[in-house]
Amino acid sequence: MNSQQNRYLFIDADDTLWENEQYFRDAEAEFARTFAPDMTVEDVQEILWEKQEEYIPWFGYGSKTYFMGMTAAVTEMKGSVDAAALAKIKEIIIRLANHEVKPLEGVEETLSELSRHYSLVLATKGETLEQKSKIKASGLAKYFVGIEVMVDKTENDYIELGARYGVAPEQLVMVGNSVRSDILPVISLGGTAYHIPHEIVWTHELAKLPISERLICIDRFAELVCRLKH
Ligand SMILES: [Mg+2]
Repeated sequence: MNSQQNRYLFIDADDTLWENEQYFRDAEAEFARTFAPDMTVEDVQEILWEKQEEYIPWFGYGSKTYFMGMTAAVTEMKGSVDAAALAKIKEIIIRLANHEVKPLEGVEETLSELSRHYSLVLATKGETLEQKSKIKASGLAKYFVGIEVMVDKTENDYIELGARYGVAPEQLVMVGNSVRSDILPVISLGGTAYHIPHEIVWTHELAKLPISERLICIDRFAELVCRLKH
């Protein structure tokens, strides 16, 4: 066994390993076209996102929250939700929940290489059933020694995550696209974070990158191989 085999590398999934955010933007555009064709998509998104924020503490991250958010947004825009509106929302959500899961460029080869040197743990947040289906559909599960679907990615969630693998908070090494979820809490705990930006960022996840020597910014997932291998 390689001496680094027991070193854990925690890796985010949505928009780090595969495209995710684009499908949500597509669903929002369809929602806007259907329920508020006279408004701009941006204005409809604002109402939708505001409504969704109310449901995140109750239902977490995922399609369920989107379903509730869309229902609440239609109620606000039209005064009520009828059976036809509910059926359309359901159709949008089911399409969203079943979107294609295709690893981003260079991801599979990189995971294959990294898994020879590190114990990889997939650390994603959201709905357990949705996330597990995506991992299965991606065909990438075989590269990970652990798959962790987290309710949220706060500092406490990372402390608990590390503890499950015997990793102290300051020894955490996390890779991900979201500054708010994958970078800030880990840096603040004294850990190390690799940030790989994704071109689409959900407003909820927007945050400024911290200034830290333990933050490494890279452009593509494949760059992890030369950054981490030795
Ligand atoms: Mg992500």
